Order: sequence, then structure tokens, then C-alpha cells
Amino acid sequence: MRTRFAPSPTGGLHLGGARTALYCWAHARRCRGEFLLRIEDTDQSRSRPEFERSIIESLEWLGLQPDEEPLRQSQRGEHYQAAAEQLLEEGHAYRCYATVEELTQLRNEQIARGEKPRYDRRWRDSSDPAPAGRSHVLRFATPLEGSAVIDDVIRGRVEVANRELDDPVIVRADGSPTYNFACVVDDLACQITDVIRGEDHLSNSLRQLHIASALGAKPVRHAHLPLIMAAAVDDDGQLRIDEAGNTIYEKMSKRNCAVDLAVWREEGYLPEAMINYLAQLGWTNSEREVYGSKELSEKFELARVHKSAARFDPERLKWLNRQHLRSLPAAEISRLAGVAAPDAAIELACEQAHTITELQTELSYFSEDAQIPLAAFAKHAPQERRAAIAQFAGKLAGLESFSADAIKKELTACCQSQQLKFRQLAMPLRTALTGRENTPDICLIASLLGKSQVGLRLQRALQSATEGAQPD
Ligand code: GLU
Repeated sequence: MRTRFAPSPTGGLHLGGARTALYCWAHARRCRGEFLLRIEDTDQSRSRPEFERSIIESLEWLGLQPDEEPLRQSQRGEHYQAAAEQLLEEGHAYRCYATVEELTQLRNEQIARGEKPRYDRRWRDSSDPAPAGRSHVLRFATPLEGSAVIDDVIRGRVEVANRELDDPVIVRADGSPTYNFACVVDDLACQITDVIRGEDHLSNSLRQLHIASALGAKPVRHAHLPLIMAAAVDDDGQLRIDEAGNTIYEKMSKRNCAVDLAVWREEGYLPEAMINYLAQLGWTNSEREVYGSKELSEKFELARVHKSAARFDPERLKWLNRQHLRSLPAAEISRLAGVAAPDAAIELACEQAHTITELQTELSYFSEDAQIPLAAFAKHAPQERRAAIAQFAGKLAGLESFSADAIKKELTACCQSQQLKFRQLAMPLRTALTGRENTPDICLIASLLGKSQVGLRLQRALQSATEGAQPD
């Protein structure tokens, strides 16, 4: 069993593409077959080396390593040429000299008659001599009788009468191969047995069947993956809802979703969570919701991929990311976040954070040289309360044990003696130490920061509040 992922480097790795790559990889692992990568860069005007690099990097990040060196279509021109000559010689392809003007006119006439526009095969059996000075394309002579049949692993049997298919261009006037042609030549050359790709390629697959069989290929197994939908947004980026107040879904695109995987990576998502989420975009592991590549490579079954469209749900992805984040050892989290913090601080930050980026924010106030913004402190430390805060700071400095419990006890005692509510001292403490109004247990944070940092930060905050309050 050999399968391939064949992205076009006209952009980074798209979420939909990443799911296709994952299913190809998982299917290959499960069947103990091979997973190949092919860069479909024949469209010179839209393909870019930086996109190719980005795709390969994203695949590496996900851990989806191909089993062989990637193939580049731009380096395989001679193979397409040889295959085209073979088809021409054997009568499976013919030269078509129709001009763009003629084809446009044909199209307009067909539309005016209410017919489906398509090439009328005018050069297929023509014995006219080649018009002088005119360039030509090569078209594939699709059989006129019979039908094209795909026994799709996911969708079941798909059959279309050959009469419904046209004669696709296989080589352009400039000699370059079209997608449908290059794809078949390469699948054959690489002995691909299983073709897994998006449902939007179904009509291409039907066309490719005939080209493949004319080239003498054995039939491949096909699996067309369901579309991915995302919540529709209007021009201002607002979610669209229908009359009943339900979210409207539309095909996932750049417009309604951050489709490039590199963006998610930068935002601090973990590859394990991405794998887990992409796996669930069309396939269900009956045993567990949170799992990784290993389980996927053991249990994935192409035949159990859902037929209906999948819905992209960023909240669920976020939730899964949090689950994976929390399952990592503290040292690993600290390495990923690039912040040195005590294990207990990391554990605490993980209660709040969903992503590495959020974790960095949560951990930022643990660093000794953290710049704590003091605007929130100014709000929670009005002048009449500053003496009480200073007194509390003094009590903290005198504590023997700087445990969270001891700090809490002192905080409660100070509130009682000053006739303040708990939060009237807790909020100044929280904002002085972290610059933020929402954090996990502030007594725990204080104890993790240690007595001297807490003293320093309280003093700094009080001083800045006093200076800020003075008239210029
Ligand atoms: N280059 C095509 C794409 O990116 C490949 C489709 C395929 O044959 O798998 O959609």
C-alpha cells in the first residue's frame, strides 16, 4: 500500500490539506504501507519556494514525515512528455487547434441554448490539416461509451456516464502538463495504490481514471474526504446567523478562518493537539477523545471516515490544546514557553492557559525582571488605603514561613484589624505582584515569588502610586 500527499505550493499548509496529509499518513501507518510527498509545482506563476518550505516545515512540525524523498513536478517534465507521446501514438490523445475565440464562442452558444458548456470534440476525429502558425494543446480522448466508476472507500460507488465527461486538456500550448495529467503520470510512476484527497477533487478523479487506464495503470483505491465548513462571517468579520439565530456554515476559506497551519503554530498550539483535532475533523476514535499520533496510527480506519461535511470548531481545538498542554511534564512546558519558572508556577499557569502563548503571559510575572504594569494597582490602591497596604507589606516582611497559608492568614488578620474586606487588600497585592486583576490564588503566587520579590514589588507599586498622585 502506497499513498501520497500532493500539495500545490501556492500557499502554506492549509488546515484541510493538513487533514488530508494526516489521513494519508495514518492510513499508511495502519496498513504498514508508505506515505509519500509530492510537490505539485507545475503552475510556475503561482508556486513559490517559500510556500514549499512552509508546507514541509508544517508537516515536520506535525510529525508527518514522508517515507521517501519528496518528488517535485517541476523536475519531471521529460516524464510527462514521454507519457503524452505514448498517448498520442496510441490514439488516446489528439492535437486540438481550437483558438480561445472559437472556444469562447462555442461556450456562449451552448449557454444561450441552455446547455452545459463543454468542448465539442471538434478536433477529435478531424482530418483537417493543422492550421498554419497556430499553436495546439493536447487533449485526452475520453471513451464515448460506458461509464467511469469509483468504488470510493468513504462514499461508496460513484458512477458517471463517459458522455458526461469532456476531453480534458493534458498538455497546454506551452508544453506544460495540466494537473489531471501530471498527477496520473506521477501516481503511476510512484506505484501509488491509494489516492486520498478532498471531495472537491471527485470530478478530477473520474477524469483521471481513463487517463490512468490508457497509460496501463492498475486501478487505485480512492477515498474522497468530506469538506470542512467554518462559521460564516460578514465583511466586518461578524458571525452570520440565520433567522432562527443559528450560526451559518460555509466552506472553510481564508475569509472565515486562519487556514494556514503556521498561524496556529505561532499562536502557541501544540502539534499533538492539532493532530488530535484534525483526526476528529471527519473521524471518531470510539475509545477516547484525547489521543495522539500513536493511537491514530494503530486505529485509524479510512472506511470509517464520515461522509458528511465536517465543521471547524476553534473552541474545541482550544480545549484539546489545553488537555495536551496539561499532560506535559513541567520541564517540557517550561522549555516550550521559553520561561524558567518553578514547577508549581507552571502548574498554576496551566490552570489558566490554553496555548503556549497564553502560558507565556501567565508565567511572565514570575520572572524576576518582569516589568509589572501598575495601572491596575493604582485603581485598587486609593490613597486612603495605602497606609493599610504598607502595614500589610511590613507584616509580610516579618513572616517566618512564607507559605501560601501563612500569607493568607496574615492577609485575613490585616483585613480584620483594618476593618477591610478580603479583596480590599487582596486586589492591591494581586495587582502589585502581577499587574493583573485576574490570576490564580494570589497567596500561592506570592509564596512562589518569595519574600524579597513580594516586598520589592509592593514597595515599587506603593511608591509609583504615591508619585502618580502628586500634582505636577
Ligand atoms: N495539488 C492538488 C491539490 O493541492 C492535489 C490533489 C491530489 O491529487 O491529491 O489540491
